[in-house]
Amino acid sequence: VPAPAMSALAGQWALPLREAGSVELQTRVTRIEPDPLNTQKWQLHTKGVQDSQHVYSAFDAVVLAVPAAHARELLQDSEQCPALATQLAEVRVAPCWTLMLAFPQAVQPAHLGPQWNAARSTHHRIAWLARESSKPGRGAIERWTVQASDAWSHEHLEDDAPRVQAKLQKAFAEITGIRTEPAHAEVYLWRDAQTLKPLGKTHVWDARARLGLCGDYLIGHRVEDAFVSGLELALSMA
Ligand SMILES: Cc1cc2nc3c(=O)[nH]c(=O)nc-3n(C[C@H](O)[C@H](O)[C@H](O)COP(=O)(O)OP(=O)(O)OC[C@H]3O[C@@H](n4cnc5c(N)ncnc54)[C@H](O)[C@@H]3O)c2cc1C
Repeated sequence: VPAPAMSALAGQWALPLREAGSVELQTRVTRIEPDPLNTQKWQLHTKGVQDSQHVYSAFDAVVLAVPAAHARELLQDSEQCPALATQLAEVRVAPCWTLMLAFPQAVQPAHLGPQWNAARSTHHRIAWLARESSKPGRGAIERWTVQASDAWSHEHLEDDAPRVQAKLQKAFAEITGIRTEPAHAEVYLWRDAQTLKPLGKTHVWDARARLGLCGDYLIGHRVEDAFVSGLELALSMA
């Protein structure tokens, strides 16, 4: 478990690139296309903070390490690798409504409720719960992350956040017996959360177009799938 937060792992790996000024953060790639000055190279259009728009040119290759739906959209718009975009349409990814709770009235070593730190649940609304404050390097205040099931998230995809929050909080209380009001509660909808039908190969590398795909959705739904996929793509490109 990375500390102080899950993003620290990727942050650490990307540090040399950041220090070299080679990473643009808070920036979305909105279009990929052949570079008009040299069509053997790629050009990227981006949108960053305060809607600032840029075009970056002369890339030898493009790696789409983004969720399947985003990769498909970029490929369709680019009109460069239509067969790949078609393959990506087969990938199925489920959404996940996630509830985050904080109970400042419980500060470690004291804690509320059950004597476990993570659990799979068969409750019809909730699939997984984790006591965030039990992870290494986290704050002492009791915090929980609660993930709704695929089916329930899908069924309530268009519900508004307060309604989802109320339903998930009720289910959380039923599972854990923690009925105290949290000081902080918030829900977030991860639209591309869990692969149901993967692409079925570790990575894609189109040597002619110099375009690659990697990510968890190629082979599974966990962080190690994303790692293996990225590694296999890098080995193919080397
Ligand atoms: C709520 C939740 C809990 C999870 N818990 C666990 C767990 O406990 N253990 C586990 O193994 N896995 C867990 N997972 C799954 C894990 O997060 C994924 O398997 C992993 O993050 C996939 O990595 P990735 O690099 O393929 O994609 P992502 O982590 O989704 O990374 C893709 C990145 O691309 C960026 N992006 C998308 N479109 C663009 C664009 N157009 N331009 C620029 N950037 C773009 C996104 O912002 C994102 O940062 C969880 C997932 C969720 C949603």
